[in-house]
Amino acid sequence: MGSKTYGSIRDTLRLANGVEIPRMGLGVFQVDSKEELETAVKAAFENGYLHIDTAEGYNNEDMVGTAIKKFGRREDVFITSKLDNPLQDDVEKAFDDTLRKLGTDYLDLFLIHWPSPWRGLYVKAWERLVKLYETGRVRAIGVSNFNSEHIEAIYDATGIMPVVNQVERHPLFQQGKLMDWCAQHNIAMEAYAPLTSGSLDKLIPALQPLADQKGKTVAQIILRWQFQSNWIFIPKSIHPARVAENADIFDFELTDEDMKALAALDAGKRLFPDPLTANF
Ligand code: NDP
Repeated sequence: MGSKTYGSIRDTLRLANGVEIPRMGLGVFQVDSKEELETAVKAAFENGYLHIDTAEGYNNEDMVGTAIKKFGRREDVFITSKLDNPLQDDVEKAFDDTLRKLGTDYLDLFLIHWPSPWRGLYVKAWERLVKLYETGRVRAIGVSNFNSEHIEAIYDATGIMPVVNQVERHPLFQQGKLMDWCAQHNIAMEAYAPLTSGSLDKLIPALQPLADQKGKTVAQIILRWQFQSNWIFIPKSIHPARVAENADIFDFELTDEDMKALAALDAGKRLFPDPLTANF
């Protein structure tokens, strides 16, 4: 469906460097079978998705590349990948390998996956991402799991801000403070684990009544909340029916009151490791 009012899966957000990123994408974390990956990508394209989020660490970039070739066209898809933590001192080779595996000669967005502060390498890695960006082989560069101190450190070293910060964000962990800080610095926010990465049951009691009232599922309510709060979001599913369900959020709206009810679910609790102390 979709309309001007309700938005569409084709909606993009303009990043600080002018690149347009589709607001919704398909996540492929923990999809390690070729069959499942192809099923998911095929369903995504059939439902209008224009954006796929992978990472070196997911070990599926080659399968993503093959699936894109099989079911779509490279130039129609916004591809994000991420620098694996153990490769922070080998950025150029890691990036070349990513392009080779994806079977493409450019990437739309490359992120430092985690700051991994104990390695002491993320500032140097960012300097090298900036150089890669200058070659034109990547259209935009950003970070993931960075807090404001990490971003200040890379900015101080290079004078270049990331255009995206991809972080854990769902109703139980809403990232209000980091979101405000990034907004002030013109950094777009991207939600990973937008559906709580498998903990949806925790939100059913609170959100089922609203879902029933709207004639939608709890997953759709949460994704609509991500959309209306102006985040980029990348739900993962390997099931075609769910890939379709997750895209079917552009024929209804949450009211200000609904948005407030979702805001009230923030428990300030991460489901993923804290980037400051993560030991990988
Ligand atoms: P999500 O929040 O997207 O949730 C995925 C889980 O929810 C899966 O178990 C999936 O099961 C299930 N699911 C999907 N749709 C529905 C639905 N409509 N109803 C019920 N259950 C549903 O978690 P992810 O951790 O995968 O995060 C999304 C993406 O974010 C990742 O795939 C990855 O690309 C990125 N990411 C980035 C990280 C980073 O450090 N930068 C960390 C984690 C994720 P099923 O597949 O069986 O349908």
